[in-house]
Amino acid sequence: MAETRQMQVANWQHKCAQCGYENGFHVSFRRTTRDEQGNDVAIVLICPSCSTPFDIGLKTRLSPQVQA
Ligand SMILES: [Zn+2]
Repeated sequence: MAETRQMQVANWQHKCAQCGYENGFHVSFRRTTRDEQGNDVAIVLICPSCSTPFDIGLKTRLSPQVQA
């Protein structure tokens, strides 16, 4: 996997800044700094054409999963 690049979201961001592919991105999740349960993640976009990962600054926290 290529090194993650930063990307600014301008208007409607659907074009890869690396290769020019214009039909949007795949979505992936990367754990970041740990909260108490270790559920902080960054949502990283991946170009379906050239596989370059892009960090747009989108972060979230997953809810804890109950083990059955
Ligand atoms: Zn690309």
